[in-house]
Amino acid sequence: MYSKTMYGMGAESSVIRALFAYGMERSAQIGKDKVFDYSLGNPSVPAPKKVLDTMAKLLQEKTPLELHGYTAGSGDAATRKAVADDLNERYGCKLGANNFYLTCGAAAALKVTMTALFEEGDEALTFAPYFTEYSYFLRTAGYKFTVVGTEDGTFQPDIAKLDAALNENVKLLLINSPNNPSGVVYTKERLEAVAELLEKKAAEYGHPIFLISDEPYRELSYEKEVPFVPAIYKNTIVCYSYSKSFSLPGERIGYVCVPDEVTEAGNVYLAICGAGRALGYVCAPSLMQFVVKECAGERPDLTTYIENRDLLYNSLTSMGYECIYPDGAFYLCVKALEDDDKAFSEKAKKHELLLVPGSEFAAPGYIRAAYCVSTDMIKRSLPAFEALYKEYKG
Ligand code: PLP
Repeated sequence: MYSKTMYGMGAESSVIRALFAYGMERSAQIGKDKVFDYSLGNPSVPAPKKVLDTMAKLLQEKTPLELHGYTAGSGDAATRKAVADDLNERYGCKLGANNFYLTCGAAAALKVTMTALFEEGDEALTFAPYFTEYSYFLRTAGYKFTVVGTEDGTFQPDIAKLDAALNENVKLLLINSPNNPSGVVYTKERLEAVAELLEKKAAEYGHPIFLISDEPYRELSYEKEVPFVPAIYKNTIVCYSYSKSFSLPGERIGYVCVPDEVTEAGNVYLAICGAGRALGYVCAPSLMQFVVKECAGERPDLTTYIENRDLLYNSLTSMGYECIYPDGAFYLCVKALEDDDKAFSEKAKKHELLLVPGSEFAAPGYIRAAYCVSTDMIKRSLPAFEALYKEYKG
């Protein structure tokens, strides 16, 4: 009568959503100011002014058909050219409009790319910790999905573990830096080592291994330069989103970038167009496409995120908590004060702290705090963190 697989995925409750719903309920009971909700990754700073002004201007100036009509499946050509020009200027590459396919955010970019690359028997790898949705996207595209461990204490890719996980069925490695949930930016040296290993193994297996670089947080790196992955590994396909950089996750706009250097780039691009068609994506939201055309060079104001990161990281570490230093992406991984991160998250709830158990992201023993919240909430939550620490350590 219906798909048991899809039913299972729909019925499985998301721990993050459940925590968020609990927070709403609790706020209604005891007051919003007494609940410290670190569960969701919704950007908390306004969109860049030019983005908001452009939206308003477009609504006034364009006719409804110009603004709200269907675009080409791959997206408006002038918008794709504007995105290409922005990357060319930043990274000195030679991308053109035809290297881009516009999507409803990074989620759709990932799904079309995975679907486009899949052949029967293919396997996919990603590094822990990882964004939970990957497993849904990959498994429903047909892949066998394996999570590869990272270096203890830094969450940087571990080359020996990657080497052990690779086999001739691996079609793709999915990476995400700056990372959700750790906030870690993968170093250029480590990415070069990943690239060297993938090149060696691809030659040995006699087929390309694609690197899918999921980059919704590329602009949210506070001090470190985020390496441009296609410059490091030729078979890189970038999945990008404006959700976080423009603070517009509900408006759904992003892209897939298939550089010419990718093996059979033209055919891979057409397979992506085919996957978009098969999945019924039609085209990315047209208003947002035209906003990107005019605002591709806009960057977010990171002042609040940096202030929040510093406040939370410095306060928690001085209390005695062990944290992974986040380079960006508004998430902080904190070591749970007991082995069972789910039990720790439950104890934190008693102090009105809503922290996502790390095992949700293959980071058991940690919790994730999304600090895209008001700085004031962080300040008010510190006594609760202190009390939670005392409960364990006396
Ligand atoms: N990838 C990662 C690592 C994310 O954290 C998210 C959203 O939080 C996505 C992809 C999906 O992004 P989008 O909202 O652009 O689809």
